[in-house]
Amino acid sequence: MKYDVVIAGGGLAGLMSGIALAREGRSVAIISFGDSALHFSSGSLEMWNDAEGALNSVAANHPYAIVGTQHLDRYSRITKDIFASAGEQLKGEYGCNHLRISPVGVLKPAWLTFDDYFVFDPKMTDGGGVVVVGIDGYLDFYPDFIADGLRRKGVECDVASVSLPELERLRESATEMRSVGISRLLKGDAVERLAHQMAPLVHGAQMVIMPAVFGLGDVDGRQRIERVVGCPVRVAPTASISVAGVRAQKKLVEEFRGLGGTYILGDKVVSCRIEDGRVVGVRSHNHGDVEFVAKDFILAMGSFFSRGLVATPEEIYEPTFGAAVVCAEKREAWCAERILEAQPFQRYGVRVDGNLRVEIDGSVVENLYAVGSIVAGADAVKEGCGAGVVVATALMAAEQILGKELDVKEMN
Ligand SMILES: Cc1cc2nc3c(=O)[nH]c(=O)nc-3n(C[C@H](O)[C@H](O)[C@H](O)COP(=O)(O)OP(=O)(O)OC[C@H]3O[C@@H](n4cnc5c(N)ncnc54)[C@H](O)[C@@H]3O)c2cc1C
Repeated sequence: MKYDVVIAGGGLAGLMSGIALAREGRSVAIISFGDSALHFSSGSLEMWNDAEGALNSVAANHPYAIVGTQHLDRYSRITKDIFASAGEQLKGEYGCNHLRISPVGVLKPAWLTFDDYFVFDPKMTDGGGVVVVGIDGYLDFYPDFIADGLRRKGVECDVASVSLPELERLRESATEMRSVGISRLLKGDAVERLAHQMAPLVHGAQMVIMPAVFGLGDVDGRQRIERVVGCPVRVAPTASISVAGVRAQKKLVEEFRGLGGTYILGDKVVSCRIEDGRVVGVRSHNHGDVEFVAKDFILAMGSFFSRGLVATPEEIYEPTFGAAVVCAEKREAWCAERILEAQPFQRYGVRVDGNLRVEIDGSVVENLYAVGSIVAGADAVKEGCGAGVVVATALMAAEQILGKELDVKEMN
């Protein structure tokens, strides 16, 4: 099978590179094994905890320094545009973080957030209360913590709870009473009944906050509740699977396929063939001897979470291409003693050159680029730069392959 570009890994990184390349008419195949980190998304894409200022002094080996911080504003706008084309609006701008709320009520800086999610607005302290509405028996959403977090910011806040017979039935099985199960039931008449139950409980509120469980049943469930209760309804993240993340992953895959891309789910890249310093083809588990041949290849297999990187008691390595990894040799140096300290392993990943190209057996491979959370140098937890690094490296690799800058569509 022949393509212009083959991408190993179809999470946010693989999809952003794939869509950018497919938009420019390249034939692209993405081979992806399983769920991605998007399935656990907070609802926000984080770029940097301290917004623009501190970004100017990132370490020389940080992915942002390799990409060039002068490109991040442009990449932000391309990211919003790609998401919007896929049917997911993101709010926020490069360089001016807003505050999102965590499942336990902590307000945290974020750069781009799904449009239906709650973000803090200082004007909320001026008038009208906020009501956080939970669902009876649903244990992955904590209305009291969220209300406490908002009260600490000076927002008047109450909590309420709703239930429906169909949701009650989910409670019979603990594994069903999860965000995805609830989301699938929130359709048709059930949404109407939920809205009418909520209306007296939230009367006079300036805003209602609900768990992020909309999008897999009726796509307009949240808006229909809004119309009945008469004020904006926003969602806050839940502690388990992220419905918005699942929804976004699905829409980005559809967008990629709509552009002519081939997305192969449930298959795993297992090896590559290198000739004269270039990858010629890769093989996958399901396709056996059939090789995926391309001019360029992208390694987007995620970090430890997705097994793009593997740690054993002896070593940390990249299992598919055998790419060189940046990490401390001695195991004792991988982790800091105190759990809340910066953990060295967070920065471990595949070594890349100034063009994001990967090193194998001591030599840089001319046509193999690494993108996303597998790239070494960033601490997504301490720096709050998870998705920022992912989209910046993904779009830069696409530009390297295209040999030109990607266009930015001006959006309203
Ligand atoms: C649980 C979790 C939650 C996060 N939440 C946020 C958040 O809310 N906001 C934020 O900004 N950042 C967050 N991050 C940071 C996160 O790393 C990025 O936001 C981003 O989604 C990672 O994208 P990725 O494509 O690099 O990797 P992944 O999403 O991990 O995708 C890699 C994909 O490659 C596949 N794969 C692996 N090996 C192979 C192979 N050999 N062949 C084929 N496919 C393979 C995997 O199955 C997976 O689907 C989170 C990270 C984690 C782990």
